[in-house]
Amino acid sequence: MSSGKSNLECFERAQRSLVGGVNSPVRAFGAVGGTPRFFERARGCHLYDVEGNRYVDHVMSWGPMILGHGHPEVLEAVHRAVDAALTFGACSPLEADLAEMIKAKFPSMDLIRFTSSGTEAVMGAVRLARGFTRRDLIVKFAGCYHGHGDSLLVSAGSGALTFGTPSSPGVTRACGAQTLVLPYNDISAAREAFRRFGGQIAGVLVEPWGGNMGLVPPVEGFLEGLREVTLEDGALLIFDEVITGFRVPQGGVQGLLGIRPDITCLGKVIGGGMPVGAFGGRRDVMEHLSPLGPVYQAGTLSGNPVAMACGIATLRCLTDRAYVELEEKGAYLEGAILEAARSAGIPGSVTRLGSALGLFLGPVPRNLEEVKATRVDLYPRLFHLMLDQGVYLPPSAFETFFVSLAHGTEDLEQTGRAFAEAFRALKG
Ligand code: PLP
Repeated sequence: MSSGKSNLECFERAQRSLVGGVNSPVRAFGAVGGTPRFFERARGCHLYDVEGNRYVDHVMSWGPMILGHGHPEVLEAVHRAVDAALTFGACSPLEADLAEMIKAKFPSMDLIRFTSSGTEAVMGAVRLARGFTRRDLIVKFAGCYHGHGDSLLVSAGSGALTFGTPSSPGVTRACGAQTLVLPYNDISAAREAFRRFGGQIAGVLVEPWGGNMGLVPPVEGFLEGLREVTLEDGALLIFDEVITGFRVPQGGVQGLLGIRPDITCLGKVIGGGMPVGAFGGRRDVMEHLSPLGPVYQAGTLSGNPVAMACGIATLRCLTDRAYVELEEKGAYLEGAILEAARSAGIPGSVTRLGSALGLFLGPVPRNLEEVKATRVDLYPRLFHLMLDQGVYLPPSAFETFFVSLAHGTEDLEQTGRAFAEAFRALKG
């Protein structure tokens, strides 16, 4: 099945009525050049574009499709939900069903609020942290992405411990002035921030594995140190597990490391491909949220029954056995990439959290500066060498990529061979 249109024709048409031809900037291929692919269908680990080309997908919609596209049990649950209602704008039992499944894996989340995106979840968490503590400042880390809420679209200012500067026009300087941006994995910078601004910091927001600068693991003691300083000061620790949530059998990084944040943000996997986010945490904190408390947050489609049904079916399929398989597939791909890089003489390294992988053309980095010091300049060529061999990687060097349960041996071998060929070409 193909529409008879080319990707280029679709892109030209889209640009006439959509800003840049897209609804989310990275899709425009600006970071890698060339024409974005326009897709018609996805099944298992494969994407099919309008020209009838098939790709092994390692973007997986940026993480949600952990079971693969079109998983039969998920589709059946969604079809059933659609037949019952598209939306009530009122309560349904499905919301508590999904909340209970999340709580079973995230015991730090006593109470949960669903949203329609990860961005909204983080915005709600930040407002709640400020409302609960009656403090204004938020600490975040350079290279972590928390959605496009104003107070978080802020980059590090010049010099250590300065307030952030807006990273987009339209974000006010006042927003920057309430967000401290620190280097990731630098616990002494965090301790210094608390020495300088103790009693004024509402929350420390962190991706417990940095998933938006490639995939950067926390160094030992970093997250533990953040827990310590926040507890000492009375600030809240907020884990943004939008990418890492349900990536490992322990639930998230908090389960893996035994750290209990005050608030957790989730998205992606918990919606199984439908628009779902969530934030939740300590009962006394969450009870400050309306309707129990004064901090306002709401959503017309929050807890949407079709989205809830999709999330429930997805989490139901994530059995212990499924995580074993995801681990095996992730480990296989990690090995294949490292071997391909080694034999081509490319200095490549791979980081991995279960089925999520980061590829660096250089040593494993600890923060954004070190990520930028790797050969990110080679990524556009690598991306296209892979695309030409039918492998769809994220169209930016600063993204995590994924395997799903639907990636079979042949698919992973295809990706491995494509990396070997692409690295040889890069070297040559
Ligand atoms: N937090 C993290 C860690 C993310 O990676 C993302 C998106 O990629 C978000 C928040 C925002 O989620 P959404 O795109 O659903 O708004």
